[in-house]
Amino acid sequence: MTFTPHGKHLIAGEWIGSDSTFRSEPASGEAHTFSMGSKALVEQACEASEDAFWTYGYTSREERARFLETIADEIEARGEDITAIGTSESGLPEGRLQGERGRTTGQLRMFADHIRKGEYLDFRHDAAMPDRKPAPRPDLRMLERPIGPIAVFGASNFPLAFSTAGGDTAAALAAGCPVVVKGHDAHPGTAEIVAEAIHAAIEKCDMPAGTFSLVQGGKRDVGQALVQHPLIKAVGFTGSLAGGRALYDLCAQRPEPIPFYGELGSVNPMFLLPEAMGARSAEIAKGWAGSLAMGAGQFCTNPGIAVVLEEKADAFANAVKEALGGTGSQVMLTDGIAKAYREGQARIAGGPGVQEVLTTNCDARNATPYLYRVGGKDWLDNAELSDEVFGPLGLLVTARDTDEMIAIARSLEGQLTVTLHLDDADQELGRKLMTVLERKAGRVLANGFPTGVEVSDAMVHGGPFPASTNFGATSVGTLSIRRFLRPVCYQNMPEALLPEDAR
Ligand code: NAP
Repeated sequence: MTFTPHGKHLIAGEWIGSDSTFRSEPASGEAHTFSMGSKALVEQACEASEDAFWTYGYTSREERARFLETIADEIEARGEDITAIGTSESGLPEGRLQGERGRTTGQLRMFADHIRKGEYLDFRHDAAMPDRKPAPRPDLRMLERPIGPIAVFGASNFPLAFSTAGGDTAAALAAGCPVVVKGHDAHPGTAEIVAEAIHAAIEKCDMPAGTFSLVQGGKRDVGQALVQHPLIKAVGFTGSLAGGRALYDLCAQRPEPIPFYGELGSVNPMFLLPEAMGARSAEIAKGWAGSLAMGAGQFCTNPGIAVVLEEKADAFANAVKEALGGTGSQVMLTDGIAKAYREGQARIAGGPGVQEVLTTNCDARNATPYLYRVGGKDWLDNAELSDEVFGPLGLLVTARDTDEMIAIARSLEGQLTVTLHLDDADQELGRKLMTVLERKAGRVLANGFPTGVEVSDAMVHGGPFPASTNFGATSVGTLSIRRFLRPVCYQNMPEALLPEDAR
């Protein structure tokens, strides 16, 4: 690795240190020292961001598209160093970091194409009707406009695709909004090298210095100061329910409340219908085990719960156990996440009526898979069994009959995804479940597994609370740009004063 972090924040185009520092806690390799964030640094970054908005918010779509593509190029130019530091800090394998880099540059380029097309502006024009009776109609033009500086929280589980230059940042920059990122302590060096790439793109494209800032973390008051700063107009966040809820409440309590787009927890239930189970139970078991254990289960779309009829449960549980049995121990992203996994596992294991199917032995920063089963009634009576355990833990919920399966579906909280495994002969039950499941999740899948989120036009990565704090939004795909736009109507405005896109 040739990159050694200098440990500074990036604010208004300058790399700035601070007196207090923290040490990174890499999964492997050398720890480094980083300047700790502070309220004063948040203040500087937000002011630089607002200054930048007066220019950046009025750049053309083509200028911003070229800027996004240049960021992607600059990330690629640092590709090997990014993989090296990202692997060291997160413990994720090299292939994962390389894939995530491709996704990150891919979504930057996708947003460049998207804004070039201009459809996201949702331009509407009601031509004037001066002779309309009883009253004339004015000329009305509507256009989506950028809202101002955006705060983005780096996510622990996606050091690239949901962090410094990840989906939230790409969508905000595409919209015309400057960004202040609060780095995640789990990967401060990765944040720094990606911020270097964005800094280089700002200089090459002659964008205002405050278009992007990185304030490293270190203490809770950094994130709190950021969401409460009066110049910040919206927040993009991926993380825990507790953290997201606390920050959401702070946003709502501000003198000027702002939208908080939090992508929080989800157990992503799968409903395994009887005919499909009769035809391919072993195949579904294998698929579930693979999706559950992938990346040590540290995906927001990890399918933590499978609902199956009791009569099919024994053979299925054995098949999943066998498929999971081959999964070795995997290093988790942080000590805190590993500790939370062990606590979650103990909570499920001690739940009323819960039986163990596969118990393993994870310690320190490592995760091994666990599988439990519980009857539908016990699951319905004990809400804590439906809380997310972030890691490779599966809970098989056995339903007495199809009515209980539907009752389980109706009792679900908001989810990022729900999945049906069904065959043609399951369609009647499938239709009944669909009317329920559609109300519960941002994405409903058939005969697949929810990990692996396509970045595209039709993707929705969001859902009713607690999957997200804003059910009208997605944090993945082109639709995610909407979070950082606001419709403005121009009435009888002389053409010379209209934004170019509204002329
Ligand atoms: P987190 O604890 O919610 O932290 C995410 C970010 O929010 C961090 O920058 C954190 O800062 C900040 N933050 C959290 N609570 C805050 C508060 N009250 N005030 C100000 N800032 C606050 O999430 P995490 O570190 O990624 O992982 C912890 C747990 O989150 C995991 O065990 C898992 O359960 C869950 N998680 C879920 C998903 C998902 O997609 N569903 C993804 C990742 C993690 P500090 O670092 O300074 O605390």
